[in-house]
Amino acid sequence: MITKLQQLKLPDGSAKDIFVDSLSGQITAWHDHPDVIVDLEGYIALPAPAEIHAHLDKALLALENPDLVAEGGLRFAIERMRRVAPDRAGIVARARRAVEQMVRNGYTLIRTHVDINERTGLSSLLALLEVKEWTKRIDLVDLEIVGLFGSPITGIAGTDHRILLDQAVAAGIDAVGGCPWLDPRPRDALEVLAKAADTAGLPLDMHTDETTDPKVLTISDLIDIKRAGFAGNVTASHCVSLASQQLPLLSDLAEQLADANITVVALPQTNLFLQGREGGVPIPRAVAPIRFLASAGVQIAVGQDNVADPFYPLGRMDAMETASLTVATSHLRLDDAWAATSTTVRAALGREPAGFRVGDRAEILALRADSLAAAMATSALDRVVVHNGRIVSTTTCSTTLEMPRPQMHRSAGANL
Ligand SMILES: [Zn+2]
Repeated sequence: MITKLQQLKLPDGSAKDIFVDSLSGQITAWHDHPDVIVDLEGYIALPAPAEIHAHLDKALLALENPDLVAEGGLRFAIERMRRVAPDRAGIVARARRAVEQMVRNGYTLIRTHVDINERTGLSSLLALLEVKEWTKRIDLVDLEIVGLFGSPITGIAGTDHRILLDQAVAAGIDAVGGCPWLDPRPRDALEVLAKAADTAGLPLDMHTDETTDPKVLTISDLIDIKRAGFAGNVTASHCVSLASQQLPLLSDLAEQLADANITVVALPQTNLFLQGREGGVPIPRAVAPIRFLASAGVQIAVGQDNVADPFYPLGRMDAMETASLTVATSHLRLDDAWAATSTTVRAALGREPAGFRVGDRAEILALRADSLAAAMATSALDRVVVHNGRIVSTTTCSTTLEMPRPQMHRSAGANL
């Protein structure tokens, strides 16, 4: 099916008709008789956002049980999460609601982590595999699943987690993840996870050094493993302790990360909420220093992370919010912040780039706004989302502003 998106304003300021083809999933050449014509005059087109770090298995839990939200930081949140009983049907229902919300907001690609540990077994993974199957069946969004393996994964205590690692790889995870910095032997933990990923030909995406403590710096181990010949893509998520390093060391690490082609992902919302609660001053800004890293040539991206769960009570699942926060917390330019939530994410996940030229993948978010700045400043609500050459969501809002009419005032005693 060919859809004509009429008079769409492109990021370079030009307005033109764009044709998208749901068969090829691409931008296609001028077509005299499109199947559908959608007038998008007044809309600006952006490359569709891509979420690099979600937790769909936990999403929206706190809306059902507000007591789960931890006010004490990361370890309290992990503790609260242990109270949640595995509930496959509940996970499927909440994750589908979250995916629908994300698609409405413009996401056409989502990478989610999923807890795989002694509490959950494989139940959360099986739930998200079911959700992934559903998204594929209706071609709503591209979804990939990272196994987030519990700690420890080393030693005798880690035996069950290592068994789950093998089982999850066999069940069809798309990437291997975990929190090796929480393991008693972080380097060994990383090697266990990397070996499983390498054998299966999967990428790595690690929760890395999620603390403001400068002494926690396992990212060096991740760099070593990539340099030692790990073949797949490597993503280092969080990397909060990088923001606590002194300059000579940070410069050195940035150079190594760029050289090893590791993507660093900042997650401002959850990290700002969970970190810096020790009570001392100065209060740290607990966000990976992505502006510094980008200037050293490191590929950086930004994600939403948790949404309404024990780790973060809010979250709109909207890249407009994530990119805006990135401007405020990391001092990225607006267009760089948008790239960090869209085009760079596709590159980091090894996806074909999306664009607006004939033959490009048709992954578009059109918003009723004059410019990227206007769209971000107002978080424009009217949106049309194109995934794989097909319109998958249209949102149109209507407001009635009740303006009082000017009153005719009679002066006392006036004789009209
Ligand atoms: Zn996470």
